[in-house]
Formats: sequence, C-alpha cells, structure tokens
Amino acid sequence: MTMTGTATSFTAPEAVPATPSRPYDPRYDPLLAPDPGAGRAYAPTWWVASAGTPPEDDGPLVQDIDVDVAIVGSGATGMSTALYLAQEHGIRATVLEANQAAWGCSSRSGGQGQNASGRLKRSQWIARWGFDTAKKLDAEIRAGFENFKALTQQIDCDAFDGGHLYLAHRREKLPVLAAEAALMRDTFGYATRMMSAEEVRSDYCDERETVGAMFEAEGVGIHPLKFTFGLLRRARALGVKVHTSSPVQGWQTIDGVHHLRTPGGTVRARRVAVCTGGYTGQALSPLLKNRVMPILSNSVVTRELTEAELKATNFRSKTFLTDTRTLRFYYRLLEGNRLQIGSRSSVSGADAEAPVHLKLLTDAIARKFPPLANIRIDHSWWGWVDMSHDMMPRITQPDASKKIWYAVGYGGNGVSFSTWAGKRLAERIAGRDAGREVFELPIYDSPLPFPNVMGLVESQAFAPFRRMGQRMLYKWYWLKDEK
Ligand SMILES: Cc1cc2nc3c(=O)[nH]c(=O)nc-3n(C[C@H](O)[C@H](O)[C@H](O)COP(=O)(O)OP(=O)(O)OC[C@H]3O[C@@H](n4cnc5c(N)ncnc54)[C@H](O)[C@@H]3O)c2cc1C
Repeated sequence: MTMTGTATSFTAPEAVPATPSRPYDPRYDPLLAPDPGAGRAYAPTWWVASAGTPPEDDGPLVQDIDVDVAIVGSGATGMSTALYLAQEHGIRATVLEANQAAWGCSSRSGGQGQNASGRLKRSQWIARWGFDTAKKLDAEIRAGFENFKALTQQIDCDAFDGGHLYLAHRREKLPVLAAEAALMRDTFGYATRMMSAEEVRSDYCDERETVGAMFEAEGVGIHPLKFTFGLLRRARALGVKVHTSSPVQGWQTIDGVHHLRTPGGTVRARRVAVCTGGYTGQALSPLLKNRVMPILSNSVVTRELTEAELKATNFRSKTFLTDTRTLRFYYRLLEGNRLQIGSRSSVSGADAEAPVHLKLLTDAIARKFPPLANIRIDHSWWGWVDMSHDMMPRITQPDASKKIWYAVGYGGNGVSFSTWAGKRLAERIAGRDAGREVFELPIYDSPLPFPNVMGLVESQAFAPFRRMGQRMLYKWYWLKDEK
C-alpha cells in the first residue's frame, strides 16, 4: 500500500460478496498480512454465538464515493467515534470494515470493563508523570468509565456492575496489592479495599489459588458484541454508513484528499480516523507502522455449570476476576452460568492453534476451580490485543499537517475506555480540541512511540526484533510468576 502526494493508478478491485463467504483464518497475523482479510467470517466466539442476529449494515462498498469523514474499523472505538461525531457534532461519517461488524477484538474480548486504560496502574502513572498529571489522568479515565457505565445501562449487553476482584496468586503479591489499594483510597478517593482469601471464597467464588485480593467497586462486565452492535445501531440511526467486507487496501493522499481503496470502490475523504486496534496492518499507514505491537490473547467459554458445580465452586457473584500474574488470567461467570477464562497465547499467528495454548487455560480452570477440571469447552478463540510500546494508548492527530487521527494502543484495557476514546477522537476530528487542557494529557499529546530498549532508546530499528524479545520476556515472566 502507498500513501503519497501524487496520483498513481489503482489496481482493479476484486468484488467482495455481501455475506461472509470467506472462512475465518485462525492463523491471521497482523505483523505479516497487509490487512485482516476481506469479508471473512467471525472468530468462533461465545459472543458471536449468543449476540443474536447482527444488526443491518450498509454492505460492501460498490462504487467510488466522496465523504467528509471516513473511519477505518468498526469495533467499539470506530463505532463510538462515528456515534459521537453524529450525535455531538452533526458529522455523519462512513465506516469501512474489512470483515464483519465488530469483527476484531470487540467480538472477542473478556468483556471486562475496568476503570483503566492501557496497562499501567495508577502508582505507575505517578512514577512516570508525577502526581498532578496522574490526578488529571485519573479524572479523565474515570469520566470515561462513568460514561461507559451509563451506556451499558442504555444498551442491552448483559451488563453486570459488580466491580473487579484482583486476586493475588501468591503471597509476595499481597503487599503490592495492599499498596495499590491504599493509593487508590488515599490519593484518588476510591473505596478500594483488601479482602482475605476466606472472604473471596465465601462471598464471591471458591478460587483455590488466591491468597487474598484487592476489590475495586468500579468494574462492569458486559457482552462486548451486544454492546458494540448497540453502538452501531445508534450510529446508523443517526445517518452513519457502515460498509462491511470493505478493507482499506490502498491509501493515497492527493491534494489533501485521502483516497482509501477498497475492493469495491474508493472512498475519497477529507478526514480519516483510524480505529483498527491490534488489527492494524503494517502497510495501512506510515503513521502507524511499527507503533502497535499486536499480542495474541486467547479465551475459552465452558458449557453451562450444573447446580452441583455452582455449589462446589461456590460462585455467588458474576464480578469479574483477574490475577496478579504478569501474563494475567482474566475470568468470570457469565450470564447463563458458563465460565469464561482467558490469558496470553502464542507469539505468532502461525502457532495460534497449537494445543499448548488451550491447555494453558484448561490447566488454569483445573487449578483455580478443581471441581471444574475437565469440564467441556464449548468455545475457544483468540484475538490480537493492541499493545503500545509504552503501555498507554494514544488518541491523537500524529501529524498536524495531515487530517488523520487515530485511537489505538489500549493494551487489553479497551472495553470501557474505547467509547470515551471515540468521544475524544470525535472532538478532535470536529476541531473542538484546540486550547483545551485535557488534550495536554500524555494519552492525547503525542504519537504512539516506536519500540524501545528498557525504556531508554526508542527506535524503529528495533521493530524486527520485537517477537524475539517477546519470546524471551514470556519465559522470564513465567519464571517470575510460577517459580
Ligand atoms: C482475547 C481478548 C480479550 C480482551 N479482553 C479485554 C477485557 O476483558 N477488557 C478490556 O478492557 N479489553 C479487552 N480486550 C481489548 C478490547 O477488546 C479492545 O480494546 C476493545 O474492544 C476496543 O477495540 P477497537 O475497536 O479499538 O478494535 P477492534 O475491535 O479490534 O476493531 C478494529 C477493526 O478494524 C478492522 N480493520 C483493521 N484493518 C482494517 C482495514 N485495513 N480496513 C478496514 N477495516 C480494518 C478490523 O477488521 C477490526 O474489526 C481484549 C482483547 C482480546 C483480543
């Protein structure tokens, strides 16, 4: 793909049928493939199986069109950007989606809506940016969480507003959790508190690994696909167009107009928002090349638990759980009493189907909930998380001379913050960000960084070695977490 200031002829488009006739590709790898496919079926997730009939969309693009704003990607970020552009700024955007509506992470996640964005904890915000910035960032992320929570009450998405239990999986982790809980309480004013292992077992579930936990009241578990479909329905009701099976396979900028080539036609747009998350192809735009590290996360959902199993595991709540492993497990009892659990997966797409990655999850079920050892797994899938190289997202216009914006890099914490990112992105695209202090926060004021070595030297030159580093880190994390 190219992005130049001069016109070159496009190759002849290959028509993509409206219904997904192309199978899901379990080995898809964003670092290798130019785009996530064209008209591919959804991953075999529990969310796809239980979301009901997908809402209508506008089908594949079949001709060249001129638009004001084009959005690439129809996940929660793309759809909330479209929704807020229409709702708050009167701008009806055109969304281009390579496959099906919400085909990427937004139909694959754990659905855990946390009061967070990116991978850093509040203590790490203070260490990195100081107390004042951390306070302002907290107010911003909190506003995003409250906005998300309100939306989950308006959209039918099986929302469970039960907070988050962060479980210490070994004793050395308890003081770390206790310090974070104290900081949350004393500095940021939350009612976060520590809980004993006995309290977790008697009031939430009999999770056998835990030695104690931090409980934060802010946390809403959702059905992420129902939620994103809800955003899409609302956006379309306001005049937004959503073209599925329409991957952007070429991008030229000619006299300031962006020509986004899809198989069925070219979109000529004055402004473009890129909302492609972990599915951002390396060739999509030079502005994003080597700035997103896609990391595979996998997830399973079991058959329904029987009454006897619910009793044996003492599940009393659908509050979602994570543990203190560096490569954390995330899990919860879903509506309909199925257990979901997920964690990290393979490094490359080519290895994603290897049984060892599924075994990591089934072993975890057996360890954490022995009465469920060997329970039937009904759904198993994986997806690419958009990790940024400094662990925090960016919602930004990376080059002031180009009318291109992006919101990417949530690092596995995008379920709640992506809708607020979409709201802020819409403000920026509409030109309502100038001079506002909030946009000076570190998630808004710079582009996504390139890879770095120990946070010291940042360079594009490290990009080809990222996966080698990731493999080494996974081994180190395993030793740290388990030995
Ligand atoms: C297995 C898994 C578990 C997760 N669990 C959690 C969790 O519990 N809590 C949490 O907060 N976060 C979680 N996340 C992350 C969370 O799902 C996302 O941050 C959130 O859904 C926002 O996604 P998005 O809209 O930015 O990107 P996505 O939903 O990935 O959407 C991007 C879209 O862009 C499209 N696209 C890409 N390239 C092109 C192109 N060239 N042309 C057209 N379209 C294109 C893709 O097809 C895709 O549909 C998880 C992610 C995964 C993979």
